[in-house]
Amino acid sequence: MSLEITCELCPHHCVIPDGGAGDCRIRVNLGGRLVATTYGRPSAIHIDPMEKKPLFHFLPGAPVFSIGTAGCNLHCLNCQNWQLSQKGGEEMEQVFDLEPEALVKTAKAQDCVALAYTYAEPVVFYEYVEDSGRVARAQGLRNVFVTAAYIERAPLKRLCRVLDAANADLKAFDDGFYRRVNAGRLKPVLDALVTFKQEGVWLEVTNLLIPTLNDDLARIRAMCQWMVRELGPDTPLHFSRFHPMYRMRNLPPTPAEALDRARSEALDTGLRYVYIGNLPGHEGENTYCPHDGTLLIARTGFWVMENHLDEEGRCPKCRNKIAGVWK
Ligand SMILES: [Zn+2]
Repeated sequence: MSLEITCELCPHHCVIPDGGAGDCRIRVNLGGRLVATTYGRPSAIHIDPMEKKPLFHFLPGAPVFSIGTAGCNLHCLNCQNWQLSQKGGEEMEQVFDLEPEALVKTAKAQDCVALAYTYAEPVVFYEYVEDSGRVARAQGLRNVFVTAAYIERAPLKRLCRVLDAANADLKAFDDGFYRRVNAGRLKPVLDALVTFKQEGVWLEVTNLLIPTLNDDLARIRAMCQWMVRELGPDTPLHFSRFHPMYRMRNLPPTPAEALDRARSEALDTGLRYVYIGNLPGHEGENTYCPHDGTLLIARTGFWVMENHLDEEGRCPKCRNKIAGVWK
């Protein structure tokens, strides 16, 4: 009898022999049972402001208890967390023992209002997210999922029941890019973004702009048009500045002008909230009213300096509601 398992969680559909692991390194076949070895065992823990996820339209300034485990189902050449993502659970020097109940208790003791599943790729520690999410919800905490969105529709749909917000990467509007740089494909990511939206999870999208690889304005325009059509113009988009790292050290950091051009292009397509990240002090960190241009939230780095929205998330000048979750 074969004890081989096919993992249906992500589009890789790894066929895992008994005793073996999937492409993510941490989903293993133990005698015919599929187990995530990092369940309850995060290797990274930080308390971050919500802006660092980044989420700019979801509980501004709120402290978030953020965790990540080893493993990832993508293999991005420019990964900024490769020491976590491109390792198996047993390779980590630092592992915390935090089963869901203990995790939620610790987060509450630190006055956090939400848990964030982040740093590497929470898709691969799916069961830990789902169980922690349920406990967190029951105790009044929200759940934030920071992901590359490389996941099959059925498991994502199920997970959305415990998720309140997500920041999902859209790494490029280009399947070739996904294959070359990330060891993935574009279509499943687009489908996942639509699923978040359909399931009522507050969604913001991040696009890391890498010089020469995905900074073509026509393609950026096509990506933004897709977002307006499929996710709606109220979906915030964060253009993030690339810095050379890991296996992609041959390219320079993204010039500020390239980020400006991308942002203008995106605003032109009808997206209402377009941000620039990793460039502290840039006006693209602020939220402006799409109706009258009023400065609503001023930010520097990951910090909220001013917030002029009222409790219902309305512009103080025109009284229009700004899309988001504000309390
Ligand atoms: Zn206004």
